[in-house]
Amino acid sequence: VDPLVYDIQKFPWPANTPAPYSFLVHALVTLSGTRSRIVILNTLTNTLRTLLNWHRPSLLPSLYLLSNCLSPPYSLVELGIGSSVISKAIQHISGLSSSALRRLYNSSGDPGDVAFEAKSNVRTLIPHPPLLITAVYNSLLNIAKSKGQGAANQKQAIVEKLLVAAKGEESRYLVRTLSQNLRVGAVRTSILIALARALVLTSPHILGGFVREDSPYHGTSQSVSAVQSIAAEGKKAFDPACDELHEKFTKAEALVKRVFVRHPNYEHIVAGLFNGGLDSLEVRVPLTVGIPLHPTLGSPTRSLDEIYDRLGDLPFVAEFKYDGQRAQIHGVRGVKDDNPSVHIFSRHLEDMTTKYPDIVHLVRCIFEDQPQLQSFIIDSEIVAIDPGDGGLKSFQELSNRARKDVEMSDIKISVCVFTFDLVYLDGEVLLARPFRERRSLLRSRFPPFLSCDKGAGRLDHVESCESENGRDAIEEFWQKAVESRSEGLMIKLLDSGTIQEDRTQKGNARRKPLPATYEPDKRTSAWLKLKKDYVVGLGDTLDMVPVGAWHGNGRKAGWWSPVLLAVRDSSNDCLVAVCKCMSGFSDTFYKEMVAHYSEGSDNCSTQPLWRTDTGGFRPDVYFRPHEVWEIRGADITLSPVSLAALGMVSSSRGLSLRFPRFIKTREDKLLEQASTVDFLAQMWKGQQGKSATAQGGTDDG
Ligand code: ATP
Repeated sequence: VDPLVYDIQKFPWPANTPAPYSFLVHALVTLSGTRSRIVILNTLTNTLRTLLNWHRPSLLPSLYLLSNCLSPPYSLVELGIGSSVISKAIQHISGLSSSALRRLYNSSGDPGDVAFEAKSNVRTLIPHPPLLITAVYNSLLNIAKSKGQGAANQKQAIVEKLLVAAKGEESRYLVRTLSQNLRVGAVRTSILIALARALVLTSPHILGGFVREDSPYHGTSQSVSAVQSIAAEGKKAFDPACDELHEKFTKAEALVKRVFVRHPNYEHIVAGLFNGGLDSLEVRVPLTVGIPLHPTLGSPTRSLDEIYDRLGDLPFVAEFKYDGQRAQIHGVRGVKDDNPSVHIFSRHLEDMTTKYPDIVHLVRCIFEDQPQLQSFIIDSEIVAIDPGDGGLKSFQELSNRARKDVEMSDIKISVCVFTFDLVYLDGEVLLARPFRERRSLLRSRFPPFLSCDKGAGRLDHVESCESENGRDAIEEFWQKAVESRSEGLMIKLLDSGTIQEDRTQKGNARRKPLPATYEPDKRTSAWLKLKKDYVVGLGDTLDMVPVGAWHGNGRKAGWWSPVLLAVRDSSNDCLVAVCKCMSGFSDTFYKEMVAHYSEGSDNCSTQPLWRTDTGGFRPDVYFRPHEVWEIRGADITLSPVSLAALGMVSSSRGLSLRFPRFIKTREDKLLEQASTVDFLAQMWKGQQGKSATAQGGTDDG
């Protein structure tokens, strides 16, 4: 069944029977073979839509399998399977010798490809019943549940059972799923858009005839997307049916995305959709204490001048940008004297409650102290402090704390929670309230708190200064931030207002609204960050992905140096190489890199791994892209070698980073949060604005 073509009649399985894994794999094959956003969205939409019509219990496992995860990020379900368990399972079911298997690894570099090759030589006498989507997902959950002694053997046995039953491409995608490297360009946003569209198209009203016959969304059509191409080209539909469908898509997509960023749990969203469709989904799947929302993020700026330029007369507050760990703290009073329930989530929505028993204790003390308090969600930064004078310590101090299961008695690093936002209080969602109101509620309801109990964490408001105190006061506050252990300032709009849309278009008086509401998952212009280092060098650091390297020379012989770094091209769901980096690494880091990216391992290959466009760079080896590094550079330059942002500022040259320097590994960031080519282009443009003469124009004149 071609997932690009939606044709219920041709689906060869009886309705209401569990959907086969091969159906999902067919979609994965299509997804990994394309960079076209239209094809990706159509494939996902029609896949989800088919499942909605055929076997609804297969929908949720499919969403997880397409996203290559087993659960929401905060629920700690991890496969916990190493590459050696997978290799042993492949070897066992294929009967290949260790050296034959190693040869396969060396020639392909991808464990999924190895499984496919190994399995293609195996003759099966008795055919196995087809693998089902639900069964595959449940097996993965069982792998995650195997813990303790004998877990590796149990995991291997489950993988072998799956591989024995897998046919053709199924082996490849099973093993890619197990290796957490699915290599398809279906990012979260595409999946949410497709889910929304699938729901729209499944409504009986739409199936009743709104879809044009030449659209892939039509019952039996085989053509490419008419609906999206009309939308993409910005043509207003000549066919009213398409216009209507497009409008329904747009509304549904916005709704599903809005619900997801406030309540990122597919299980609850799917249940909400089955139980009432899209109508009032937000009411059925609301922001909930105990479930982290995606946090608001800030936009980089280079100077106070730029901040005043961007915000004009709009009142703002400047806050210290602390160098700690973002923490979303959820608290809800227990029923009848039971202990309150407390959760602490990272910026990346992982549950880190057991890392901070001192903060859990602190929150319980606050509940005791305030009998009227029922529930809250606070946004904050946890910072290591000196327990004596409360002085700020560096992020490195904080990172010495174990990641989980910390006992109060083991705590050596004291922390303070610096609160900066309140998004929920006593049953009321505060997202839509302007920051001035949220901030004042936060400050009045959660005053600085130092528990009398030894070992409990502290709570304080972020240090801040309001623009209403005048520019001099803000300049002074900036100086204070520069001299402190903070990273700089966060500037936050207090009341919603309007700003000039494009500062460079002189004479253009168009203004656009700038809300001071809490915007989950958005890098908003109402939150501006100004880092100390902005004063020199580039406005912001870049979050880049190491994708390859050259063999080092001289002192660095035996190590990887330089390393090739890439940014994300979100429109093509791929990585594009930007520059070589050879500074900022310690010798220890070089050695760790050699171990981590050892030649012939899953992490290092002679072929590009995943979708990496290296342009004119020809590294000796390619790394499996899976980590994000923070990189600082002197400036952005036009480059004949890099293809990053090609066509965005110049038709013949990409953008590169001059004098890149490694700062740190961003363990809190996923690949999909790495900087994008658009960000690079935006930095280039910002830089041009600052020093047109230093940079010269683009080569397009
Ligand atoms: P960076 O790379 O600069 O750390 P980021 O990409 O992690 O930034 P940004 O939105 O760009 O995230 O910067 C905001 C981050 O700064 C927050 O995620 C939070 O961890 C930290 N932070 C420290 N102090 C504050 C504050 N007063 N208000 C908001 N965020 C703060």
